Amino acid sequence: MNVAALTIADVQSGLRNKTFSAVELATEALRFAEAENPKTNAYLTIANERALVAAAKVDAKLAAGDDPGPLAGVPVAVKDVIVTKNLRTTCASRLLENYIPPYDATAIERLEAAGGVILGKANCDEFAMGGSNENSAFGPVRNPVALDRVPGGSSGGSAAVVAQGTAVVSLGSDTGGSIRQPASFCGVVGVTPTYGRVSRYGLVAFASSLDHIGPFGKNVADCATVLKAIAGHDPMDSTSAHAPVADYAATLNAPVKGMKIGLPAEYFKDLSSETGDLIMKAVDVYKKLGCEIVDVSLPHTEYALATYYIICTAEASSNLARYDGVRYTARNTDANSLTSMYRDTRGDFFGAECKRRIMLGTYVLSHGYYDAYYLKAQKVRNLITQDFAQAFETVDALIAPVSPFPAFKLGEKMADPLAMYLADIYSIAGDLAGVPCMSVPCGKTASEGLPVGAQLLCNHFEEAKMFQLAQAYETESAAS
Ligand code: GLN
Repeated sequence: MNVAALTIADVQSGLRNKTFSAVELATEALRFAEAENPKTNAYLTIANERALVAAAKVDAKLAAGDDPGPLAGVPVAVKDVIVTKNLRTTCASRLLENYIPPYDATAIERLEAAGGVILGKANCDEFAMGGSNENSAFGPVRNPVALDRVPGGSSGGSAAVVAQGTAVVSLGSDTGGSIRQPASFCGVVGVTPTYGRVSRYGLVAFASSLDHIGPFGKNVADCATVLKAIAGHDPMDSTSAHAPVADYAATLNAPVKGMKIGLPAEYFKDLSSETGDLIMKAVDVYKKLGCEIVDVSLPHTEYALATYYIICTAEASSNLARYDGVRYTARNTDANSLTSMYRDTRGDFFGAECKRRIMLGTYVLSHGYYDAYYLKAQKVRNLITQDFAQAFETVDALIAPVSPFPAFKLGEKMADPLAMYLADIYSIAGDLAGVPCMSVPCGKTASEGLPVGAQLLCNHFEEAKMFQLAQAYETESAAS
């Protein structure tokens, strides 16, 4: 069994035809993940027992003639910022190195209820803060496509396991591009659904008004299937939407002829020529498919980066206040007063990027600066959201780069946080507006053979249309 090449459809037919049982598949997937992990460091924890128990349940359902669910037996990796009951969840932080959550995130419950088999927890930037996975307290992830390069971040491990084949699909989180950018760097599909489409209950909070859970897969269909399984209202998350969940996989192959796709001028100003060329080739494919390509403008794009780094740091400084050495695991025990215990615990256990964000966030929320920074950023966020609303009055979707350049070398941007932040320039506006967006592989650079992702964005809750467009591209480019 070549576990590395499997898609969800392959797993389903393998189980149906009795080529393998779910337990056989899980056993082989666990062995392969264990053997391959030293190359990339993509898994922080491999969950042998949990995976085998879940797989045995699937086999029992199959034997009883019951429906084992749309993800039956599918080996899944989960970013280590999503809590899993009785399974270590570190957020790639020393602070939570030994944290064992007492409950499952809603997305995890739904994944397992659909028959998914959780193989383990994927490495990421500490508390999902970063764009290269180099902020993990447990070492960076290496890009399986080019081991001297970053896989992107913050969901670098979730993208790497799918590219490496050590999981069939995975879950990541996206606050400012953390699903789409690693998907683009590793050459897999990554989806950031509409804000509120997937419950955030059990997603350790970074910036609550921007945080999304979404899937990675080798192809569009796999992401559509996973999203359907985990989406929908959840009483445990008041920001989760009541909107009905469509059967995304059922409409994947509907024709896209006649759809209007906007090219936002602001997204093509500053990017590597090879990235630009590959995106324009994808645009040509859409023309061939009968889509109409129109120029559009999202005039407030230039403010997106500043807006994002004010709002996300403000929310992070508040969310991360809970790590005080009293609750959760890590604590500085040398302190001789409560205040010094708080201070020294946070000083000892948070990594540099988290500290930077806590300080920035505290500053923009502080008396005298709140109006100038935080309040103004909220107003600009509104303008950015309105840009998208206006564009979607005339177009069905937007196409743009995910990142201005392909995967960079490990260490290349670590000394310069601003250079790192600039890599997010095309991925953060989608999060600020809360619209669904995704990265679809659109080829490799001629010079170095590095994957590049094209970003598709649609209006709120139009995931079905977005998947349809992505599928049409995937089918057409595979055929040509
Ligand atoms: N790179 C962005 C940041 O560092 C995105 C992070 C994310 O989406 N979780 O904040």
